[in-house]
Amino acid sequence: MKHLHSGKVRDLYETDDGLLLMVASDRISAFDYVLEPGIPDKGEILTRLSLWWFDQLKDVVPNHVVSTDVPAEFAGRGVLCRRLDMVPVECVARGYLTGGGLLEYRADGVVSGVRLPPGLDNGSRLPEPIFTPSTKAPTGLHDEPMTFDQVVGEVGAEVADRLRQITLDVYTRGAEIALERGIILADTKIELGWDADGVLTLGDEILTPDSSRFWPQELWEPGRPQPSFDKQYVRDWLVSPESGWDRNSGEAPPPLPEKVVERTRQRYVEAYEQLTGSAFRS
Ligand code: ATP
Ligand code: MG
Repeated sequence: MKHLHSGKVRDLYETDDGLLLMVASDRISAFDYVLEPGIPDKGEILTRLSLWWFDQLKDVVPNHVVSTDVPAEFAGRGVLCRRLDMVPVECVARGYLTGGGLLEYRADGVVSGVRLPPGLDNGSRLPEPIFTPSTKAPTGLHDEPMTFDQVVGEVGAEVADRLRQITLDVYTRGAEIALERGIILADTKIELGWDADGVLTLGDEILTPDSSRFWPQELWEPGRPQPSFDKQYVRDWLVSPESGWDRNSGEAPPPLPEKVVERTRQRYVEAYEQLTGSAFRS
């Protein structure tokens, strides 16, 4: 097997028969740093969650998954996939306003070229889900928002329309399923590519806390940051006085205390169990 690439969180290999092996590690990143130590079971939790979602959404859009029959050292964390020719756009859908979208909105009322009504706040539900694509920046650089016209310039009008439609369909179906389980899917990023027959196909991972914002519905209250099922707990600790870390110092963050590691793991397990309805370890 040939090692192709290691991102902050995943490792990519190519098998002898030309398939892609995506392996999710327990690494966790925040503020563009890979933190120490990893979160036990994170790779397996996110892999299983992503596989579950691919299955839920298989009628909406085809996906790249081939099998989970992988070498023992990657068991539970590795997925064999068809290699796709990736679309050079990060496809983001937002149903709620927060994060980078909120910053753009506060600057000029527009998010990725979509004008939104006035009066929206942090965590507000949007009148309807919107497509807010961004560039796929090389490692180390930040993805930049793109307007729909820029996507058209990149891939043509027909493909741009399909990207928007598929992204909104995935978001809408995902949000419906999550809400039935008491979880708000605030936004999500998917990656699409063309398969060998030229069919637009879902790649990467989908609807995990690393690619999406999940909020417990019962705690949702626009006007403040929302509690969420992701690494928010880690981010909050890092910027708190307790960590002793200055985000602007240019220095790597300190190691995470046991308590932060355990609570973060717990958030991932909860997200998995609440969404899929099955125990992570049964
Ligand atoms: P970061 O650490 O910022 O996430 P990264 O995006 O380079 O960096 P990964 O997300 O681990 O790291 O990399 C996965 C890469 O594989 C992405 O470039 C993604 O577009 C690509 N990819 C995902 N699925 C497929 C596929 N089926 N075929 C080809 N490439 C794929
Ligand atoms: Mg990536």
